[in-house]
Amino acid sequence: MNYQQLLDEAMEAARPVLGRGRVADYIPALASADPGAFGMALATVAGEVHGVGEWVRQFSVQSVSKLFTLALALAHGDGELWKRVGREPSGNPFNSLIQLETEHGIPRNPFINAGALVVTDALQTLTGDARGAVLDFLRAESGNPRVSIDDSVADSEAHHGHRNAALAHFIAHFGNLHNPVETVLEHYYAHCAMAASCRDLALVGTFLARHGLRADGTRLLSRSDAKRVNAVLLTCGTYDAAGEFAYRVGLPGKSGVGGGILAIVPGRGALCAWSPGLDAAGNSIGAMAALDAFTTRSDWSVF
Ligand code: GLN
Repeated sequence: MNYQQLLDEAMEAARPVLGRGRVADYIPALASADPGAFGMALATVAGEVHGVGEWVRQFSVQSVSKLFTLALALAHGDGELWKRVGREPSGNPFNSLIQLETEHGIPRNPFINAGALVVTDALQTLTGDARGAVLDFLRAESGNPRVSIDDSVADSEAHHGHRNAALAHFIAHFGNLHNPVETVLEHYYAHCAMAASCRDLALVGTFLARHGLRADGTRLLSRSDAKRVNAVLLTCGTYDAAGEFAYRVGLPGKSGVGGGILAIVPGRGALCAWSPGLDAAGNSIGAMAALDAFTTRSDWSVF
């Protein structure tokens, strides 16, 4: 298969929508992003990497990091995790508070903010340094020591993070955080503020395409946990647009308000597309269009 040609075509297909949507200005440090910027990368399980556009430019990983915190918490053997967080789509925006009250502080799934706060708390308990664990993992799997945490983005979010603080306090009220709220928020903002490129994230994502095996061949997740993480990505990874994403792209995927979307093709590889212009659900319009075009023109889909 001519991957480079498919990527070129995917970028061309996305071009008419590039620049549409809004950047995530509720985090002031992200407000200056160019909504029309675009990059896309593909990494195969065999180690081939291809890219198009600004595919080696770093951007803010944001909620794509929630996939890595979940995998690491499961890898460190938190057998209790699924008692503290559900695995049903929420049908609500990623930062919504409303279900938490009726559902007694048990977030619907690990990919909305409430659920990711619980997973970050679990990882903090397991490792003593959640942000360090996620950063080390990204550097190791991408082979890129320049993957880093952008402290200015983390600080910017912390200073405007009233919703996340409210979510964390609410969860703590129900006894579902084991570390201090301030600690959980600090580590959550830090892993969201990682700066990495499409190339880096596509390479990192291949552990799920390899059914749980890391780049060095060691096992991170059991085959069945890798299957489960992919399944939850498919149903919950793009929030209340997960149905639309499954319909258009047909892959498990995780989006972030930095404009990145990482999608997994089990057994084959991973794709990461990036463009900062977001739709109303907080998913990148350009990235979604490019992934849609790529999977429509290739046989890279689970369906
Ligand atoms: N750090 C962002 C937040 O908590 C992540 C949201 C996202 O990427 N969807 O709001």
